[in-house]
Amino acid sequence: MTGHGFIHRGHQDHEDHKGFVVFVILVSFVIGAVARCAAQPAPAEPKFDSSRAYEDMRQMVSIGPRPSGSPAIAKTRDYIEKELTAAGLAPEELPFDARTPLGVVHMVNIRATLPGAAKDRGRLVIGGHYDTKLVREFPFVGASDGASSAAFLLELGRSLKGRANPLPIELLFLDGEEAVVDWQGQDHTYGSRQYVQDAQRARTTKDIRAFILVDMIGDRDLGIRREQNSTPWLTDAIWSAAKRMNRPEFIEESTPIEDDHLEFLRAGIASVDIIDLDYPAWHREEDRLDHVAAGSLQIVGDVLMAALPAIESRLTTR
Ligand SMILES: [Zn+2]
Repeated sequence: MTGHGFIHRGHQDHEDHKGFVVFVILVSFVIGAVARCAAQPAPAEPKFDSSRAYEDMRQMVSIGPRPSGSPAIAKTRDYIEKELTAAGLAPEELPFDARTPLGVVHMVNIRATLPGAAKDRGRLVIGGHYDTKLVREFPFVGASDGASSAAFLLELGRSLKGRANPLPIELLFLDGEEAVVDWQGQDHTYGSRQYVQDAQRARTTKDIRAFILVDMIGDRDLGIRREQNSTPWLTDAIWSAAKRMNRPEFIEESTPIEDDHLEFLRAGIASVDIIDLDYPAWHREEDRLDHVAAGSLQIVGDVLMAALPAIESRLTTR
């Protein structure tokens, strides 16, 4: 629009014809330059691609049941680390031995960090579990419960890689979310409890500015209620992004759920659990690929990406 104004003013300047010609040439150079700039592809907006996430989910499900301490979960770890490396990230293993009702089980959390501009303001952690529940009665492959969260984090890593993150973002793959026997006492969330306790011992909890947990987000009939234990401002940031995007799958009604975010909350870290526990195949043999959908991962990916700026702005201004 400013270009038009210049040309118009040039037309009115009849006295200096030569000057006008030079001016027109200059203007056409400017317009040409602008046009060339516009023709150049803009830096790609980070885009969550659920077809890649679905393939990750498929690969992990094809490994079979993946309970903590099993050779199958070691294979899953190899897959996760290979994919992170291919995305240009540096996976780091955080091994530990968990005391469970079935004895000591060797477990491994995995993390990979995307750099961010603010280096002295800690990091945003986005996590989910990659183990599946130990079930002896039938083969439990956990398409939504175990594979969906790990697949989601992998694709998040690929899509956030080229983004200018205001804060470093750590992707955290948690082991031992599932109970070894029964979800009671301390028989659950081994990976998150270990991770937070390690931070507490090292006095570095303050560096974990917020924790976003995804769990069971593959349900083909997606419906995610607000989780009652979660930090209100963080929950609001995500649900208001969903509202802006007209995503009725993010339901306003709330329900309390025990999950990997609780240990973070106990340590005073703002946390939110994004989970669809209204899943008929939950902890059943039916939690297979035919009960999950790429579209569900896409919805959660789009909503989380849209919610990130508000979350990051709050964390970098306070
Ligand atoms: Zn489960």
